[in-house]
Amino acid sequence: MTEAETRRLLCDLAASLFVRGFSVGSAGNISVKLEEGGYLMTPTNSSLGRLDPARLSRLDADFVPVGGDRPSKEVFLHRAFYAARPGAGAVVHLHSTMATAIACLPDLDQDNPIPPLTPYFVMRVGRRMPVVPYYRPGDAAMEPAVRAAAADARAILLANHGPVVSAATLTDAVYAAEELEEAAKLFLLLRGAQPRLLSAAQVEDLLTNFG
Ligand code: ZN
Repeated sequence: MTEAETRRLLCDLAASLFVRGFSVGSAGNISVKLEEGGYLMTPTNSSLGRLDPARLSRLDADFVPVGGDRPSKEVFLHRAFYAARPGAGAVVHLHSTMATAIACLPDLDQDNPIPPLTPYFVMRVGRRMPVVPYYRPGDAAMEPAVRAAAADARAILLANHGPVVSAATLTDAVYAAEELEEAAKLFLLLRGAQPRLLSAAQVEDLLTNFG
C-alpha cells in the first residue's frame, strides 16, 4: 500500500469510528507504520471524524515529527507499542465508552479485565489484556509501563482512561478496537448474570487456529 493510500485509509477508518460513536470530540488517536519507513499519526487536538489526509503527522522511524501537523500528545503510547511489539503495524487508542467504563471499575482482573465471552474478541484481542495503572494523559512515565504491558499482549487497558490496541495492519487494529468495545458492552450487560465463558481449551483452540 502506498503512503497516499494509507493516508486515505486511516482517515476513512477514523471517520467510520467517529460516526459510530467509538470516539467523541478530539478523543482517540491512531498510528500506522509505513512501508517506506516511519509512521503516520493523527494530529493533536484533531477529531477522528474530520481528518485531512494531507495534514496527518509524519514521523520518522524514531518518532521525530518530519511533516504535517503536530502529533497527538499520546504519541508515546504508540511508540511504546511498536517498541514492545516488532510485528505491530498499527496502533489504535480510543476512549470508547464501555471499555473505559470497565477501566474505571475497582475490582478488575489486572490481566483479563474482560473475560473470554465470544470467539471474535479472543481472535482479535488475544489471550490477555493487562491493565496499566492510571497516569495523567501525556505523562511520559506511562511509556515504560505500557511498553512492559504490551510485550506479551496485543491490547492493554489504561485505568480510568481507555483501551490501546495493536495489530499487524491498520484495518485489523481498527477491527480489534471495535471488537474490544463490543466485548466490553457484553461484559457490562452480563454483569451479575454469571454468563458461560469460553473455556481455557476453547480459547487456546481459537488462538491456535486464528491467533
Ligand atoms: Zn487517551
